[in-house]
Amino acid sequence: MYQSKLFTKTRKEAPKDEVSKNAQLLIRAGFINKEMAGVYSILPLGLRVINKIANIVREEMNQTGGVELQSTALQKKEVWEKTNRWDDKVVDNWFKTQLKNDTELGLAFTHEEPMSNMMTNFVSSYKDLPIYAYDIRTVFRNEARAKSGIMRGREFFWKALYSFSKDEKEHNEYYEKAKIAYKNIYNKVGLGDKTFMTFASGGTFSKYSHEFQTLSEAGEDNIFICDKCKIAVNQEIIEEQNTCPECGNKDLRQEKAIEVGNIFSLGTKFSKPFELKYKDEKGEDQFVFMGSYGLGISRLMGTVVEVLSDDKGIVWPESLAPFKVHLLSLGKDEEAEKIYNQLSEKGIEVLFDDRDTRAGEKFADSDLLGIPYRVVVSGKSLEAGGVEFKKRNSEEGKIISIEELIKQIS
Ligand code: ATP
Ligand code: MG
Repeated sequence: MYQSKLFTKTRKEAPKDEVSKNAQLLIRAGFINKEMAGVYSILPLGLRVINKIANIVREEMNQTGGVELQSTALQKKEVWEKTNRWDDKVVDNWFKTQLKNDTELGLAFTHEEPMSNMMTNFVSSYKDLPIYAYDIRTVFRNEARAKSGIMRGREFFWKALYSFSKDEKEHNEYYEKAKIAYKNIYNKVGLGDKTFMTFASGGTFSKYSHEFQTLSEAGEDNIFICDKCKIAVNQEIIEEQNTCPECGNKDLRQEKAIEVGNIFSLGTKFSKPFELKYKDEKGEDQFVFMGSYGLGISRLMGTVVEVLSDDKGIVWPESLAPFKVHLLSLGKDEEAEKIYNQLSEKGIEVLFDDRDTRAGEKFADSDLLGIPYRVVVSGKSLEAGGVEFKKRNSEEGKIISIEELIKQIS
């Protein structure tokens, strides 16, 4: 893509009311636009990152047997009344609206109820199960405090998977697969070594649920890590569980962390009120055994910025970067365009800075944007035999030939 065609511009300053590092950098670099506290438009560069995260998540969910659907944002009151979760005293973060005839509606903040309700149309026999249905979409929450940028949106992008199993045993098998899929996702987005599976209070059926927590000073949570097992316990259960749940280690280390996902066993908590039942092999009615698996896609994008950026700007891992190569032309547009075409033909994603601006500005913008490989074409580089090649996270660049460049990045 030609950078001159990108309508977004970098800015020296973020809005004064923006206190979080992730939103400050993402706004300055032109990945998001702040509409109001907790509400951000995703701009072209940002959307490329969101889509990459979503695709990694999609790939891993499909690998577990997941099937994707698209749920609705508009929610019917009666469905939520079945579990008493329409009541604002029970759920304090609903956004509600109404039809012209005054019928009340909600804007989805999660989907356990509508999914359970919908599945009554499709589940009747043991032959219909298990089902692993997931959804990647925007959800809405009237969060009391929205000071963490895109890590706590009032409108945010997530993946939610709901599992519908015949019994607890079948459920547990899937739950273990989900743990592996989640670990794969955090590894692929470059947060593997900082993300801990964390024991949390369990809810209805299992003793524990699990959160995935990424270490960061910007985190709103506290976790207690067992360095031997590389797992953690969250703040809410540390009173009752103050040793490592796996090895009994008493020496847990406290750290601040960001909850980037969580998985829950729901048992029959939702299948009972919705009468989500199936006939087993003996022809007897059984309630479906459920689980839920959430992952904040926009929060994950914010987390990567919090954890991997430096004082010059964002540092994207290659898997999430909006482009793989940032090609900077310093007065050598024709030569640079040839390289742009060569790389593009090979399917390499290149952002070509063809703007008529100072070299210093191009370099500063390139650091701010955080694209993994910077390639500079200048009179000097051409004289020295090619282009200057530098990784975003290394200090020094080097001159390499165009053939060598193609070899290094394809
Ligand atoms: P938190 O304790 O941070 O409010 P939660 O327990 O409410 O999270 P869930 O309802 O289980 O979270 O949502 C699943 C995932 O969605 C979370 O693990 C997190 O990654 C993400 N998430 C939750 N709330 C937000 C938000 N306001 N903005 C962005 N992502 C969010
Ligand atoms: Mg919450």
